Amino acid sequence: MNVPMLDLVAQYATIKDEVLAAMMKVVEAQVFIMGPSVPQLEVEIARLSHAKHGIGCASGTDALLLPLKALNLKPGDEVITTPFTFFATAGTIHNAGGTPVFVDIQPDTFNIDPAAVKRAITPRTRAIVPVHLYGQMVDMLELMTIARAKGLKLIEDAAQAIGARRKMDGEWRMAGELGWVTGYSFFPSKNLGAWGDGGMIVTSDDAAADRLKKLRLHGGAKQYHHEEVGTNSRLDTLQAAVLLAKVPHLGQWSAKRREHAAYYTKALADIPEVTPPVVDPANEHIFHQYTLRAERRDELQGHLKKEGIGHAVYYPVPLHRQPCFAHLGYKDGSLPQAERAAREVISLPIYPELTPAQRDRVVDTIRGFYR
Ligand SMILES: *Cc1c(COP(=O)(O)O)cnc(C)c1O
Repeated sequence: MNVPMLDLVAQYATIKDEVLAAMMKVVEAQVFIMGPSVPQLEVEIARLSHAKHGIGCASGTDALLLPLKALNLKPGDEVITTPFTFFATAGTIHNAGGTPVFVDIQPDTFNIDPAAVKRAITPRTRAIVPVHLYGQMVDMLELMTIARAKGLKLIEDAAQAIGARRKMDGEWRMAGELGWVTGYSFFPSKNLGAWGDGGMIVTSDDAAADRLKKLRLHGGAKQYHHEEVGTNSRLDTLQAAVLLAKVPHLGQWSAKRREHAAYYTKALADIPEVTPPVVDPANEHIFHQYTLRAERRDELQGHLKKEGIGHAVYYPVPLHRQPCFAHLGYKDGSLPQAERAAREVISLPIYPELTPAQRDRVVDTIRGFYR
């Protein structure tokens, strides 16, 4: 039995009728640009995030780029982020005119280390971009305290964490609720995936929402009147319709992912060569990825490949070691936790439609490798 890393066709089979009907409504109306599904989805995602405003845009990358552009960064302005993330987190800092400053991660959650953030602040620091990696929230309280004390903007990269939450002072706080602005991605493989590219920004700052709405539409609130230079980064109406039909399922899908994660963690507990993911007790993880540390990781990868078991390494090269950022001067060993994670991590299939037999096959194959 082969087990794919992700099976979008299995999900399609469960929601086909609802999604196709929603898409056909858009097709029948022929309103493809900023049709009613876009503001409807903006309201839904803002509500889910306990935020006031949602601003649909063309991708998760743009959901980070537009807020970074709204900071009007000057050459030499610094934005602190994690090196252990998808490239877009730091690529957008560069493309908005800033300098990414990478700090190390916490070895348990793989998330940015707030103490390292604090040490990296300089007079040129303008913002912090934490990433809720694999679907588990960062320790936001620490970062909010630091950001407030230093007058920095917090831009949450929640591309992998839609619907994730964290208990703070006895209350559940959502990914997307606590930063100045948050970016989501609707890339098809994300927990809430479109049938193409898409993204959304959420914020509770009215002025930021106005500004971001302008930036996604060539810098003007009124057509053909431009207060500043923006770009075209609208969310496609067809994608918004697909997402609106999928949103009601998101909670159940995340619960399924948690169930698979709990199963894996229990089943792998007696294999000393692997370390299952650590969930901070304050967090409700949505398991965008289920990521182990594994001894002889590269050999394990080869074994899983041979056995037809889906797997992936997120991420094999930390961003401070990417050739495009060589000019920033980081060396091998600069950020040891991120570098070690890049050598040791491997993610397993965790999509909601995974069957018990498939899970067992994944576990047995890993057990077989280490025996
Ligand atoms: C997917 C992802 C993005 C970018 O989203 P796109 O929709 O692919 O542009 C940004 N940051 C992280 C952490 C991601 O996983």
